[in-house]
Amino acid sequence: MKIAFTILLAFGLSLSGIFAVFRNALGATNPARSAGPSAPQTITGFRNSSAELALESRFLAVPSPQKAKEYLRALTKAPHMAGTPEDRATADYVANLFRAAGLQTQIEEYKVWMNYPREVSLDITAPGGFHSHAPTRERVEGDPYQNDPRIVMPFNSMSPSGDVEGEVVYANYGTPDDFKKLAEMKIDVRGKIVLMRYGQNFRGVKVLDAQNNGAAGVILYSDPYDDGWRNGDKYPQGPWRPDTGVQRGSVGFMFEFPGDPTTPGIASVPDLPQAQRTPPSRSVALPKIPSMPISYADAWPILERLAGPDSPREWQGSLPFTYHVGPGPVRVKMRLRQDYAYRTIWNVIGRIDGSEYPDEWVVAGNHRDAWVYGAADPGSGTAAMLEAARGLGELLKNGWRPKRTIVFASWDAEEEGLIGSTEWAEQHAHELAHAPAYFNMDVGVTGPNFEASSVPSLRTFLVEISKSISSPKGSTVYEQWQKAGRRSSEPPPLRNAENQDSASKTPVPIGNLGSGSDYSVFLQHLGVPATDISSSGPYGVYHSAFDDFQWFTKFADPDFAYEQEMARIFGLQAIRMADADVLPYNYAEYGKAILSYLKAAQKKADASFGAQTPSFADAFAAANRFEQAGEEILECQAALPRNPAALNATLLSTERALLIAQGLPHRPWFHHSIYAPGEYTGYAAVVIPGINEAIDEDENDRLGATKGNHDLAPLRQQLAALTTALTHAAEVLQSAR
Ligand SMILES: [Zn+2]
Repeated sequence: MKIAFTILLAFGLSLSGIFAVFRNALGATNPARSAGPSAPQTITGFRNSSAELALESRFLAVPSPQKAKEYLRALTKAPHMAGTPEDRATADYVANLFRAAGLQTQIEEYKVWMNYPREVSLDITAPGGFHSHAPTRERVEGDPYQNDPRIVMPFNSMSPSGDVEGEVVYANYGTPDDFKKLAEMKIDVRGKIVLMRYGQNFRGVKVLDAQNNGAAGVILYSDPYDDGWRNGDKYPQGPWRPDTGVQRGSVGFMFEFPGDPTTPGIASVPDLPQAQRTPPSRSVALPKIPSMPISYADAWPILERLAGPDSPREWQGSLPFTYHVGPGPVRVKMRLRQDYAYRTIWNVIGRIDGSEYPDEWVVAGNHRDAWVYGAADPGSGTAAMLEAARGLGELLKNGWRPKRTIVFASWDAEEEGLIGSTEWAEQHAHELAHAPAYFNMDVGVTGPNFEASSVPSLRTFLVEISKSISSPKGSTVYEQWQKAGRRSSEPPPLRNAENQDSASKTPVPIGNLGSGSDYSVFLQHLGVPATDISSSGPYGVYHSAFDDFQWFTKFADPDFAYEQEMARIFGLQAIRMADADVLPYNYAEYGKAILSYLKAAQKKADASFGAQTPSFADAFAAANRFEQAGEEILECQAALPRNPAALNATLLSTERALLIAQGLPHRPWFHHSIYAPGEYTGYAAVVIPGINEAIDEDENDRLGATKGNHDLAPLRQQLAALTTALTHAAEVLQSAR
């Protein structure tokens, strides 16, 4: 899944916290100039950097563009949606390559609740005299793969079945603000079919907003403004979405909990007793109203016939007429027949046992299932992971064994709701309690721009990795990353200041981890430090039939040079983390980030509650203590003690100390006190979520707020919970002294 950052950036949409971008004056200095990949370098956490660099250079020599191309061709041979025979074939393919590289490999099954579409249709029923039957088949001139009968018709995973008919209302992106705007315009969406465009927030959030506002059904479409012709030529002339291209996708409420919607917190192993599953009708992760995705070719006649007031100017997309909000007079009839069942999915798990700390798993994963061919999403990531595995295999052949265990994972059913990764991690929660890191890659390559998101403690680790790897554009990945960061240095319009870490020391933009990919369970449920990487460019075929081998080789990475780069970065993260003498986290950086989040949240609370704002003093004191303890332990780490076992154990416990045992309010599956997917954004991270959502919730409760009757108890509770977590984390760090 995973939405491409560059698209959002390039469009200059209101990002309101889509992800945090860190820039500061340090960007002007250029610490990388002398640190080319061949220049002598010391690596944080290693007593003998030169031995490590020698080993790494043997690894870095392995990944080849030709091999990545061969893998991608094989992976994209057929559509391979989760649970299908073609998906199983890709699991066998990946398993064989893991085995060939010398990884101990197993295919692990789960039984999970998922739907395939049996029938999806949309008819315009009024005004009379015009007939339109959607969906139009996805079709362009000159794509060799578009006629395969196995291409699944566009549908929304996790939507219920249903027949609904009603007047249409246009609701822009379907954000809470958009629905507020409709209410101000006195447009009632109750019983209506709400038409919304993709972009800005996760599609499940759009459906939830519509459901909460009483809509009868939802139509989602891709406006040419967002990833079509406004941005450049359409596929196959260019990389942007063609008229009939549809974005499939899950509308499951993953911000409640991801994974199998019937087993929050427990693994859907094949023999799980039915009594331990939540009946689907009671799952809070499943929407109640039907929804379907369509192309702009099919949205066109509906939007064109809407009357009622003109839409606000910023709601206007790129179709050649003025968008009105309705309701009606155009009416539509949606007919959805979903085939829901418990279906088998297959994760491929390949392991290299560690020589010194076999119980500490460094996990690196990428999903394998795709809506259709999935060349970029996720095949480009899988091809790079397979080349990284081959690189590890070469080291193994030469007698290398990592100190810690390395686990490579090819997840299934990510597209339906991060299912494969979530079920596996729930099953292995005990072992993962001392996992040093989870390294994610989803869409590996859509273009030349390296991008990353990470917990603050791994930002410097990522920067060091990027300095060790050459870029196809010349010099290092790091220097190119920095340059690209400067080019786009007009900061995107971030509404929530809490998403900017002005205190960050990294001179490259690194995002926060929200959700929308497989790191969610590791970081947000179990407290495993995580990163997520990709190489991005213009990408208008997301989740359509056209994300295929032809699109990829024409527009994303014709030479597979960025595939090679991503294989190197992905593999090097695992090698370095597994072999470090002292674990290379930077908890001072983490503390600074938290202080900046608190500052922004307090400002927001002051603006909402004025003099009634509860005191943030204890939370600040705890964050300062954590930051200080982070500075102190950095000195212990830099001293590289002879016997680092105790220090490493302390470092491993720190991220876990940031978990809140009872979870976040209303969503107990999410335990992390610093990062969660936003309940109103879905993909984007909300930082210190308990606190920010307590403030937002009161803001949303307009009646109470306008009367000045703030319910500040939830905010007080969340400030106390964060204070406890930060104090605990600081104590853990201080125990190393
Ligand atoms: Zn994906």
